[in-house]
Amino acid sequence: MKTGLTLFDTKSAERHEVGADENGNVRIYCCGPTVYRDAHVGNLRTFLLADLVQRTLIFAGLKVDLVQNITDVGHMSEDLAEDKMLSESKLKARDPFEIAQEYEAKFHQDLALLNAIPARAYPRASQSIEMMQELIAQLIDSENAYVGEDGTVYFSAESFPGYGELSGNRLKDLKPGHRYEYVENGAKRFHADWALWKAAGNRTQMIWPSPWGDGFPGWHIECSAMSLHYLGSHVDLHIGGIDLRFPHHENERAQSNSAMENQEVVDLWLHGEHLLFEGRKMSKSAGNVVLVSDLISRGLNPLALRLTFLENRYRSQMNLTWDSLKAADSTITRWREKYQDWAKAPFAAADEEISEAFAFILSDLETPKTILYLREIEKSDMEPGKKATIFKALDQVLALDITVAPTRTELSSEVEAMIVARAKARAEKNFAESDRLRDELLKLGVDVKDSSL
Ligand code: AMP
Ligand code: ZN
Repeated sequence: MKTGLTLFDTKSAERHEVGADENGNVRIYCCGPTVYRDAHVGNLRTFLLADLVQRTLIFAGLKVDLVQNITDVGHMSEDLAEDKMLSESKLKARDPFEIAQEYEAKFHQDLALLNAIPARAYPRASQSIEMMQELIAQLIDSENAYVGEDGTVYFSAESFPGYGELSGNRLKDLKPGHRYEYVENGAKRFHADWALWKAAGNRTQMIWPSPWGDGFPGWHIECSAMSLHYLGSHVDLHIGGIDLRFPHHENERAQSNSAMENQEVVDLWLHGEHLLFEGRKMSKSAGNVVLVSDLISRGLNPLALRLTFLENRYRSQMNLTWDSLKAADSTITRWREKYQDWAKAPFAAADEEISEAFAFILSDLETPKTILYLREIEKSDMEPGKKATIFKALDQVLALDITVAPTRTELSSEVEAMIVARAKARAEKNFAESDRLRDELLKLGVDVKDSSL
């Protein structure tokens, strides 16, 4: 069944219509977070891409079956060749599972603050070990995988004829020594092979028994095992950030297709471009990692982030700035205020305008055009009842809570003076005075949050 939504498919480098089964059900897999730290706004751009697709399909009358994994083991850092969970565990002297639990909860909290519709399932890698081992055993049986001398199980890249079709990285062009697989200890038969199950070696944490000895799963097999288990042998759409195209998705495709007798498991591969912040790649070392909590502590509505994403094409690299977030924040407040006014007028149908605005989204998620269209309607002399209908309808996809009355409370001049005095006390490190003022403000119902930025 067709859905009316066309998206740019990385593998064919063409736009395709997303498919659905005969009941109008669309199966989607989106690579989830590695839970050793907070998801930053870049990660959230990719997760909100999945939410936008989900909301678009629902608005078009379809049903969505979305699965998103939680990576809590097996994702190795490129520079240290160490499990990201265990590096963090060492650094913080904390149990890795406890860290995973904390950041998984925060991931869900962020998604809720950003109005994302929850996926049907969020399977954890650490709780899907059996599923992964079954798939690995199957790949060994079909001679797509082998047990190396070091007890590690490798996928044989050459056993999959279509290797490279997704990313363009053909085997003949992949030279030994590329950093696409972290061990180069001679146990691999071919340099482009990768580990499905890694022998524990000296590692003592996050390891499990297996038919091939104690060890832990590779990151790529996690997504094959989970998507095949939860969605079956046909996935309509697979979503992730552009950096996952190779090797993660290339390898996932090789594994899944090989396990399904070379049938094409994923119909359409959708990749979101990266987010930059104030012109630079977000990284801890650059000190420009931005979180949802940073927006909140600056007094910004988290949905402002959602609007900035909608104002940019998902396939273009995007530069987020505090200024663009502030501008988006005021747009949302203004739309909410205006909506309250428009909605006082009698209801008026606007089917044509709604279809026109939605058509942009159906065409490879051209949301910037929809936002522009709404800005024009806002300024136009269209009857208010019609404006209300259009904004309310489109908000089912945009999810900016436009119909919610803004909660901007005017601060009295007395409260404002107290806030200023407290900031001054804090700047002068007069913490006794700043704490006293905070308590006074709390009594007046004003909870002051201090930003670390
Ligand atoms: P991770 O938690 O590192 O496994 O990444 C989760 C998701 O975020 C993946 O789909 C990545 O491709 C995506 N991602 C990572 N960095 C960025 C970024 N700066 N902009 C957009 N997506 C990103
Ligand atoms: Zn994945």
